[in-house]
Amino acid sequence: MAEKYFIKTNFDLCTGCCLCQLACSMRLLGGYNPHRALLRIEHAGENLYHFPTVCNQCANPYCANVCPVQAIRRDPATGAMVVDHEQCVACNLCHRYCPIGVVGVDVELKKSVKCDLCDGAPRCVAACPTGALELAVGGEVNHG
Ligand code: SF4
Ligand code: SF4
Repeated sequence: MAEKYFIKTNFDLCTGCCLCQLACSMRLLGGYNPHRALLRIEHAGENLYHFPTVCNQCANPYCANVCPVQAIRRDPATGAMVVDHEQCVACNLCHRYCPIGVVGVDVELKKSVKCDLCDGAPRCVAACPTGALELAVGGEVNHG
């Protein structure tokens, strides 16, 4: 057993600036595309409220449980659930079963993509100017 790392969201601090999506998509794609970033920012109340949604790196992850080829596995170094693109067959079952919709087949890469905590130093957390995103530790996961 090991500790679980995840990105905690403090939505009351979020200004909706989307710098987190910029940092995320720059790492994934080498350019800015908020629609393909691995975290979502929803704007509500005539742009008064902003809600970041990021993978919870669940202790019992539905995405990994339903994957028919076991392509999603936990990285023991970071605690993140990571997609093995060599194995992914792009069936998108992970997306269908994720309760918050933050994993799934990318339109251009044709492979499932999800937050992998940037190998332990999440770019979105570093880019967020308000502390609305923070790397947190909590609970335990079974790496077996
Ligand atoms: S899209 Fe890839 S990672 Fe997702 S369930 Fe299918 S094979 Fe597994
Ligand atoms: S960078 Fe921080 S404040 Fe800006 S949208 Fe993302 S979570 Fe919100």
